[in-house]
Amino acid sequence: MAKLSIVVHTEEEFDWDGGFYRRNNKVTHDKELTEFCEKLIQAGGKVVFAMDYAFVSSEQGKAVVKHFQKYHAEDVEFATHLHPWVNPPFEDIEPVPEKHSYPGNLPYSLEFEKLKCLTEVIEKTVGRRPTTYLAGRYGVGENSYEILSKLGYTHDVSISAFADFTHQEGPNFSEYTNHTVVKEGITCIPHSTGYISYLSAFSNFLNKAPKNLTLLNNNVLGKVVLRLMGVKKVRLSPEGFTAKEMQKLTDSLLATGTQHLIFSFHSSSVKIGGSPYTNSPGKLEGFRKHSFNLIENRTASLKQTLIAKPSL
Ligand SMILES: [Zn+2]
Repeated sequence: MAKLSIVVHTEEEFDWDGGFYRRNNKVTHDKELTEFCEKLIQAGGKVVFAMDYAFVSSEQGKAVVKHFQKYHAEDVEFATHLHPWVNPPFEDIEPVPEKHSYPGNLPYSLEFEKLKCLTEVIEKTVGRRPTTYLAGRYGVGENSYEILSKLGYTHDVSISAFADFTHQEGPNFSEYTNHTVVKEGITCIPHSTGYISYLSAFSNFLNKAPKNLTLLNNNVLGKVVLRLMGVKKVRLSPEGFTAKEMQKLTDSLLATGTQHLIFSFHSSSVKIGGSPYTNSPGKLEGFRKHSFNLIENRTASLKQTLIAKPSL
């Protein structure tokens, strides 16, 4: 049976268009996050908190860790999420340029030192060393996997299938599907992303290989076909997508052999105004409803698991 993990980008609230400043490290959504994740667990989910420095070193963040360790130790995993701009050691310049908001673009020694510092803070707070990594902004780079190995990591969830962030100096994953791959000894499970359309066979065709969409996009007739088929790119996330869209994507990914799916969101989205996806009561209600709907409905058809829970 294929697997499903919930991965929470567990981080500070910040203005996503306001620049990368180290002072943007406020965490005030601890109660909402605890309540929301409690409900996901009740619905059958297993929750991986990929925590960044601002979150794990805040009082609110520590309260969330404590709560889940006390009541749901078997249902959660504490992992690592590196936002370079709020994570020591700091660069001299502020705001941090967009290029360096992706950890994988940093010089080797700075990426290593930041990740080492964060790993040790998480180990101290949680009581065990994290072994799953999520780069901030999906930003893994050419040195990341070697650094992860050196620091004892076994799993990475930074790949975002079919995505290309090079227009904003980020990584290019356009050659990746949703299949698990191994890179330099690290098992990489992509964040689930793919295509849905009016016809499931056509969606499956697109999700099978990145070149299938490229071929159609490269000619006028192909573009017409894509439009007629109602093709839409969907992430397995309640941030901008409905339960119906996520169900369709899940079916297609399973039909094309994906073994491990990742449902993801940002922790700050659980509070009104915490992220652009939930800046009104109605949007937050939709976010919650679509999340519970997906997790509840997939309890029978998918094995809900953690990524790489380390042993004591
Ligand atoms: Zn993040």
